Amino acid sequence: MKKGKKLYEGKAKIIYATNDKNLVIQYFKDDATAFNNQKKTTIEGKGVLNNRISEHILSNLSQIGIKNHLVKRLNMREQIIKLVEIIPIEFIVRNVATGSITKRLGIEDGTVLKEPLIEYCLKNDKLGDPLISEDHILAFDWASKNEIDKVKKMILRINDFMIGMFRGVGIKLIDFKLEFGRIKIDEKNEVILADEISPDTCRLWDSITEKKLDKDRFRKDLGDLIPAYTEVARRLGILHEQSNVSAVNVTKLSSIKRKKK
Ligand code: UDP
Repeated sequence: MKKGKKLYEGKAKIIYATNDKNLVIQYFKDDATAFNNQKKTTIEGKGVLNNRISEHILSNLSQIGIKNHLVKRLNMREQIIKLVEIIPIEFIVRNVATGSITKRLGIEDGTVLKEPLIEYCLKNDKLGDPLISEDHILAFDWASKNEIDKVKKMILRINDFMIGMFRGVGIKLIDFKLEFGRIKIDEKNEVILADEISPDTCRLWDSITEKKLDKDRFRKDLGDLIPAYTEVARRLGILHEQSNVSAVNVTKLSSIKRKKK
C-alpha cells in the first residue's frame, strides 16, 4: 500500500490517498480543539491512543454486523479505511444529559435519559455545527429518509453495544458523536459508520467516581488527558502496561547481567 497525497486535513486527523482508489489512509494527529476551534493545543500521544481505541471499537462493531470504514490499523498513527462520501451531519447520541444540551435546554447536568436521545448537527465549522431537525435534513437533501432510518437503527445498536462494552470495564457511556458515509458495495449504495470513536468523541465517566476519562479534561482544563485516555485503553484490554513494563525491565536486567559476565 503506497501513501499518496494529502486529500483532506481536519482538526484531529489527516486523510491521504493510496494507490487503491477505494482506500485512503487516516492519520491521527495530536492536535486538540474545542469550542469550535477557539481553544487549541497539541497533546503528545493523543493520536496514538485514539487510533488504538477507535480501531478496537470499530472492529468490535464489525463483529456484531455494523458495517464501517475500517480496513486495518497500519501503525501507531495510521489506519487504512474505505473511502466514503461523508454525510454532512454529526449524529449525537445521549444517554445522560451533560454539555451543550444542559445549557441549551436548562436540563440539570447528569440527568439520566429514559431513552437514548439522538440529535443532529450540521457539519459546518463556519456556522458552529448548528443543531438541526430531521425535517431540515430532508428539506435540504443532506440525507434521504431511507438513509436516516438506516442510520438511526445502526445508532441504537451501536449505543447498546458500547454501553455494555464500557459498563463491563467500569465506565459509563454518557454521550458520543458518530459520522456515517455513503459507499457502493457490490453495486449497491450503502451507508456505513465512518470517522472515529474515541475519548475525543465520547463522554466517558468512571462508573464509581464519575471521573471524566474523555476530552472534557481538555475542554474544562482538568489536566491529565493522556493518563485518562491511557486508562480507557488499558481497561478495554488494548494496552498491557504491566506486561510492557516488565518486558522492558527484563530486557534491561538481562543486558545488565550480560555486562556483569
Ligand atoms: N462531539 C464531538 N464532536 C463535535 C461535537 C460533539 O465529538 O464536534 C461529542 C462530544 O465529545 C460529546 C458529544 O458529542 O461526547 C455531545 O457533545 P455536546 O453537544 O454536548 O458538545 P459540547 O458540550 O462539546 O459542545
